[in-house]
Amino acid sequence: MSKETFTFQAEVGKLLDIVAHSLYSHKEIFVRELISNASDACDRRRYAALTEPGLGDGEFQITLAPDKKARTLSVADNGIGMDHDDLVDMLGTIARSGSQAFLDKLSGDAAKDRALIGQFGVGFYSAFMVADQVRVLTRKAGGDGAWLWTSDGKGSFTIEEAEREGPGTTVTVHLAKGEKEFTDPDRLRHLVKTYSDHIPIPILLGEDTVNEASALWTRDKKGITEDQYKEFYHHAGHAFDDPWMVLHNRVEGVLSYINLLFIPSVRPFDLHQAERKQRVRLYVKRVFITDDCEGLLPAYLRFMRGIVDSEDLALNISRETLQNDPKLAKIRSGLVKRILGQLKKKAEKQPDGYAEFWGNFGAVLKEGIYEDPAHRDRILVLARFATTGSEGLASLDDYVRRMAQGQDAIYYITGEDSGRLAGSPQLEGFRERGIEVLLLTDPIDDFWISAVGEYQGKPFKSVTRGGADLDKFEAKDKDDEKEDKKKKQEAPALDGLCAALKDALGDAVKEVRVSGRLTDSPSCLVADEGDMDMHLERMLRQHQQLQGDLATLRVLEINPGHSLIRRLGELAESGEDGALADSAHLLLDQARIAAGEPVPDPGAFSRRLTAAMESGLKGEG
Ligand code: ADP
Ligand code: MG
Repeated sequence: MSKETFTFQAEVGKLLDIVAHSLYSHKEIFVRELISNASDACDRRRYAALTEPGLGDGEFQITLAPDKKARTLSVADNGIGMDHDDLVDMLGTIARSGSQAFLDKLSGDAAKDRALIGQFGVGFYSAFMVADQVRVLTRKAGGDGAWLWTSDGKGSFTIEEAEREGPGTTVTVHLAKGEKEFTDPDRLRHLVKTYSDHIPIPILLGEDTVNEASALWTRDKKGITEDQYKEFYHHAGHAFDDPWMVLHNRVEGVLSYINLLFIPSVRPFDLHQAERKQRVRLYVKRVFITDDCEGLLPAYLRFMRGIVDSEDLALNISRETLQNDPKLAKIRSGLVKRILGQLKKKAEKQPDGYAEFWGNFGAVLKEGIYEDPAHRDRILVLARFATTGSEGLASLDDYVRRMAQGQDAIYYITGEDSGRLAGSPQLEGFRERGIEVLLLTDPIDDFWISAVGEYQGKPFKSVTRGGADLDKFEAKDKDDEKEDKKKKQEAPALDGLCAALKDALGDAVKEVRVSGRLTDSPSCLVADEGDMDMHLERMLRQHQQLQGDLATLRVLEINPGHSLIRRLGELAESGEDGALADSAHLLLDQARIAAGEPVPDPGAFSRRLTAAMESGLKGEG
């Protein structure tokens, strides 16, 4: 077959362009990326050989070969190799979802985009930061024939048949002018020591093995530096940030395993993908098995990175049987306990640092409250919430400790945004009485809260629901309370008004009722006791989880202390209630807006509002 020419997938072209033109401050990381790929390739060949011994299980090694004269650096491995189609797929398209996420985030602002590369890394393509041309000579283990992939990184690549002794891959980087430093053995030795020392396969430079070449996780904790952990995290987690937390444990007993796990400090791009895949790599007796083991960790810990190496799982077990192995379930439950336990420690000792973690991953961890009843209580203790009671985040224990006298429920409100929630009319009466309300803004909150029901014997109660009985609490401020009483005494009987409003609104509301929860707003909407919470219903509708278009009818509550309501009360009494119908609709619509609900007839709303403004202005003049 003669030489074939391919154009890069448009996205790769874009990526290469950015890579080539960014003044990447850490361009030397291309060495780390190529070594990392070589190591992955060896891992994959070793695994393939478990089931197909013919694929060989020799001594794996990675060789760096600089050539000053030719101005090249090559990185060779005897790993799994690639065939023709692999080359097209892996090196011609965006194979890693990370690169796609990177492209999605591009803003077009050169400086910002450059910073992004640092955050994502671009794997194999990083070689084009220093290269005129990159050649990949490769032969797949178990396949026949070798291939040469060549590209100058400017839009196209070629593939042609070639010769290679034995399976594996040699990536040769032809260095651009000014990049000669990467042919200097001392510089290379330093780079390997800095970035790739933890690679468990020998990395050779000439005759010397430059790296430690033993699995980092098997080494004694005391001898491992923070930087070594960090570089291992970069490699095993395909990550580029610093780990927020490292958990390195050797567990011995009925089951023996080692875990070297990391919590990232930056939210990985794939956190909210529908598959919710966990990413920790599983090894058995030092042999890499899979980075896609469903049973190893629950989905709500999918932000974890790193490895678990077990002595007790069978080496030749298939990935599918593995997932159902009871031993794996035991390892999993041990890991979950350890991770949650460490988080608890951190939350107690370093609340500020913990708040950072919670900001990144709290919404994911909370899925566990809902999905994992066995660990529910441990996760509830870790949860943090915005609240009306303090500036920062509060735990449920904080909340319970601060509960008002006579308070026996945990009050909450759910919505999209804590700032907006804090301004909800439903909160007015709670604020006046100094009763703290949790402001819950993650979609999962509505779900776990209905699944859990209570914390330390205190039921969760939504403030957007009827029955959130405030009368038994005194106003925080004695003056307020006096005024409150005065208002109540003065308040005219509003039964007539309630009936008239309900009459005007017809089937748009379930009921109109006098409220104890309002201080400043004239009206608000609440769910009747026993009905679905408003925010939950809205969310379920958005996700097409609710059938039928009949929304649950809500209760309109009116504020007996508000001058507008009192005036309307007088009108209703006097029978001169010409303007009452319009007012009823305006009260309802503004209550909808305050609750984040859509206004079903915006045109009618604006007409009524305009008319009300006009008559108000006339009154002024
Ligand atoms: P990642 O390593 O995150 O998957 P890269 O851009 O570094 O992304 O590499 C892209 C893909 O190219 C790899 O997933 C792998 O399939 C293939 N590849 C790269 N280098 C090698 C190699 N030395 N041997 C075998 N396959 C390789
Ligand atoms: Mg890679």
